[in-house]
Amino acid sequence: MLQKVEGIVIRKVDYGETNVILTLFTRENGKIGVMARGAKKPKSRLSSVAQLFTYGHFVFQQSRGLGSLSQGEIIDSFRGIKEDLFKTAYCAYMVEFLDKVTEEKKTQPYLFEHVWQSFNLINDGADPEVITFIFEMKMLQQAGIGPQVNHCANCGRTEGEFAFSVREGGFLCDRCCHLDPNRIPLTRPAARLLRLFYHFDLNRLGNVSLKKQTKNEIQFILSTYIDEYSGMFFKSKKFLDQLNKFE
Ligand SMILES: [Zn+2]
Repeated sequence: MLQKVEGIVIRKVDYGETNVILTLFTRENGKIGVMARGAKKPKSRLSSVAQLFTYGHFVFQQSRGLGSLSQGEIIDSFRGIKEDLFKTAYCAYMVEFLDKVTEEKKTQPYLFEHVWQSFNLINDGADPEVITFIFEMKMLQQAGIGPQVNHCANCGRTEGEFAFSVREGGFLCDRCCHLDPNRIPLTRPAARLLRLFYHFDLNRLGNVSLKKQTKNEIQFILSTYIDEYSGMFFKSKKFLDQLNKFE
């Protein structure tokens, strides 16, 4: 049976001399794998659609294992991302994270919408680092390991000064912060933003602009937290960190 889906290429792996296996994140079916036969040949009609980050319509023959891609039509190739090394690196990390926390063939239209919007925003010039923070929060929630940023992880207090405790899994208020000697101090703007990013709806993203210092603070907390709880290693994150050192 032929099926048509709307999706984004989130992984591309060569298979044999001329074929590629694509992982698509689709609006209709969630994550699916398709084989694009002959897509490595320059003259193949599948070669342009079978590129990482391509957003388009894909027609494939369904089967029990990998589907077989028969047609593709590009809606947006996200050139603004592909022509920029930093944006590419951030998006590569986002799709690797997405791939790791999603199951195959589980329909998640809201998540698709979030990924698609994140790509659009980065493509159009939004700060990729900020979009990535929001994305990381979404992926942590998706994996069921979101940090507690609404209130103190120990006593539930919602007001006051907070520190971030990786061990306690989120905010600790000034009365409870003695529980974790390794807590990370948090400035008020960083605490407010962590909370905001956790609940964020990308539709509301105007021109959020953050000081470099606040971004570094959030970046440190999220990376430390993800390292501790996700048990995942991201090849693309290592590359991204190296790139940022040269910035
Ligand atoms: Zn407390």
